[in-house]
Amino acid sequence: MITIARITLREILLRLVEPFRTAAGAVADRRVLLLTLADADGVEAWSECVAEAFPSYSPETIDTCWLAMTQWLVPRVLGRSFSAPDEVHTALESDVRGHHMAKAAVEMGAWALDAERQGIPLARLLARATPPREHVETGIALGLQASPDALVERSREALSSGYRRIKIKIEPGRDVAYIRAVREEFGPDINLTADANCSYAHDDRSVQAMQELDAFGLKMIEQPLAADDLLRHAELQRYITTPICLDESITGLSSAEAMLALGSGRFVNLKPGRVGGFSEALAIHDLCERAGVPVWCGGMLESGIGRAYNIALASLPNFTEPGDLSPSARYWERDVVSPPWTMDSAARVRVPLDRPGLGVTVDAGRVDDLTVRLAMLGEH
Ligand code: MG
Repeated sequence: MITIARITLREILLRLVEPFRTAAGAVADRRVLLLTLADADGVEAWSECVAEAFPSYSPETIDTCWLAMTQWLVPRVLGRSFSAPDEVHTALESDVRGHHMAKAAVEMGAWALDAERQGIPLARLLARATPPREHVETGIALGLQASPDALVERSREALSSGYRRIKIKIEPGRDVAYIRAVREEFGPDINLTADANCSYAHDDRSVQAMQELDAFGLKMIEQPLAADDLLRHAELQRYITTPICLDESITGLSSAEAMLALGSGRFVNLKPGRVGGFSEALAIHDLCERAGVPVWCGGMLESGIGRAYNIALASLPNFTEPGDLSPSARYWERDVVSPPWTMDSAARVRVPLDRPGLGVTVDAGRVDDLTVRLAMLGEH
């Protein structure tokens, strides 16, 4: 039984190792929205809302999530008892459309609270019948670079750090020459993928660029077309041999079902925030597993708190491709968790199966120091 007595929202500013480019320019700090959920016995769990400051990846932002949580979502669960975390999902879905990232932060916090109460690792709670993996492999995602040569140098650094899979961001005009340069430099054996983040129109030029990319043996190409265009992804998949992976398009179980029925993709990048939390993510995982479609876990520039959730999820059996689960030091000057997330020389992150809940300790004093906005809801 989970009884949610209080929820605290905090926005913090967390200093990045290198500035992050957004539509509004480069920023030195990521705005991060953190939650704590507590029950009447004082058991507490941290969670993270993965929305960004600007609605470029999805319609949600830190500010829309703050509004949705304080006004509509948190009041639905405060003071209520739930026999299992998926009941929290049902309560949040009832009569509130969308706002998946806001819902996910509350729902996933309920999973961690349940794990804390039971004294078991979050990964074990998610695993249900099958034992979770002890390690998950991570790849690296490289942003758009100024030139193919610059991308080759970033790829060289990544490979020497131990990464076995490199994901390259592409867009029209910065695609074929970039992928070719990396493939020619490092040979056919490295696991290369590309991510277009919806940047291609469905026209002859785009199809031609995708067909040219077929020559480079990419493991997959992620989300070439618009998020809501499952039909044209299916059409494009018929013209190219590289498997399409969907990210932005998969907003819940029904879009995953449509993808399978239409043949719009052969992989899913499963981010729990995008689909409203773990209950929906588990349903998509299981659906894809039955259909023989592998999933993997992408990243949303999470702090070490959000990363703990991704690593727990990625320990499930159908997560067969490396995730974007890079260690804390790749992103943050100093993470808010201890120990920080690290990887071994084979680019594997250990799943903390020896500790209950998230498996890391949040530095609450430091979070307080970094807090720029606070809302305390429920019995405080
Ligand atoms: Mg993506």
